[in-house]
Amino acid sequence: MPKHSRKNRDADADKRAESIRALPQIDECLRAAEANPELARFGRSYLKVMLQRAQAELRAAILSGRDTHPRARDTLIDAIVREVARAAAADEPVLEPVVNATGVVLHTNLGRAILAEPAIEAVEMAARSAVNLEYDLETGGRGDRDSIVEDEICALTGAEGATVVNNNAAAVVLALNSLAEGREVIVSRGEMIEIGGSFRLPDVMAKSGAILREVGTTNRTHPRDYADAIGTETALLLKVHPSNYRVVGFTSEVTLEDLVEIGRARGIDVMEDLGAGALIDLTEYGIPREPIVRERIAAGAAVVTFSGDKLLGGPQAGVIVGRRAAIERIKRNPLKRALRCDKLTLAALAATMRLYLRSRDLRKELPTLRILGRSASEIASIAPRAREIVAERLGAGYIVEIVDASSQVGSGAMPVEELKSVALRVTHPEKSASAITAMFRRARIIGRVLDDSFHLDLRTIEDPAVFAVKLETD
Ligand SMILES: *Cc1c(COP(=O)(O)O)cnc(C)c1O
Repeated sequence: MPKHSRKNRDADADKRAESIRALPQIDECLRAAEANPELARFGRSYLKVMLQRAQAELRAAILSGRDTHPRARDTLIDAIVREVARAAAADEPVLEPVVNATGVVLHTNLGRAILAEPAIEAVEMAARSAVNLEYDLETGGRGDRDSIVEDEICALTGAEGATVVNNNAAAVVLALNSLAEGREVIVSRGEMIEIGGSFRLPDVMAKSGAILREVGTTNRTHPRDYADAIGTETALLLKVHPSNYRVVGFTSEVTLEDLVEIGRARGIDVMEDLGAGALIDLTEYGIPREPIVRERIAAGAAVVTFSGDKLLGGPQAGVIVGRRAAIERIKRNPLKRALRCDKLTLAALAATMRLYLRSRDLRKELPTLRILGRSASEIASIAPRAREIVAERLGAGYIVEIVDASSQVGSGAMPVEELKSVALRVTHPEKSASAITAMFRRARIIGRVLDDSFHLDLRTIEDPAVFAVKLETD
């Protein structure tokens, strides 16, 4: 080994050791950081974490030889504090707005429904102020938080009573626990479904303490299957709307009307988990038909549960409607206390319900209905402008085409019905669909890959200007 090279290495090591020794203590940096006007709004513990991170990075840079300038302690403090100011300014909240161009309107992973403007205003009001959440403004006595929404929900569904919890899964557990704990609930095997995130409804239901008694087979269940299974331990007949799939071919299911008939003869109530649960006839808005809560109540269901943030277009919530006696039992259950909604949810839900009851043009005011109801030709009318913006941002080499597409409702509602839509297909002769997907994702635009190419479905895009972002094309 040549002598001079060893000498150089030794000198480098000495320099590194010297730089490491010169690294300032966190407390010294903290004093400097607290004096920096750019960092004045941050708390001490946050600054400490950020300083430790910056100091560790600098140490690693010195040790690896990436940083070779021996510096005075003051300059090092300065460098660390400057790095913290930069990192703190770039430190975005984890929850960020994204553009949903997936074609799935109620995308669970993207937060499902977008709220109507009055619901947003109600949330803001409730967030800013004390509210009469459980306070009777006439008597000064204690109120019931359900009363914020109960009259509206009953008016919309024809039910005698209503109560609200955090989501529909909670609504199902609470209703079963209140009405059937330790007793049997008869349900068709064809309705034992798995919902998103690999949660199985039977597992969720079992946590209610009710004993699920499955009848029939996957594709066929007959009235006599239920009738034969009813015994002294039977508390409920349960129907689950198979919202995220369809059984097709040689099938038979027992209608709610028939179930109610069977139950009535034996003194057993019927509960239905509707999942999405429409409040109105969606076909009026050009949206495929989904069971309407009011019709299920009229058909004799004692209890019906549905989500607030699926077709209803409101906040995440689980709504339970039904006969007064059943709803009273549910409200008295201590589990209700553990699953109750906060003021923000109730404010948004009440405002959404009021829109259903009072709006002259619901389609205009409720984003979920408006977006689901857009026709392919309406969507096509913004496509050229969207194409122009995206092509301009991408620059040369990329091909942006307007193509027919089909979007979905999402959240398990109407899985087989497809909504005709229009998309931009983005390709590049040398770039893969996944590279293009990642490039758009970095700009917070979420599309989807179809037939090996990246698509931006325009159903959920009302203003093409959302595509006017900076894309890192290389
Ligand atoms: C979506 C769904 C649920 C769960 O509702 P969340 O509001 O997501 O908790 C339960 N049952 C059915 C049939 C559903 O479609």
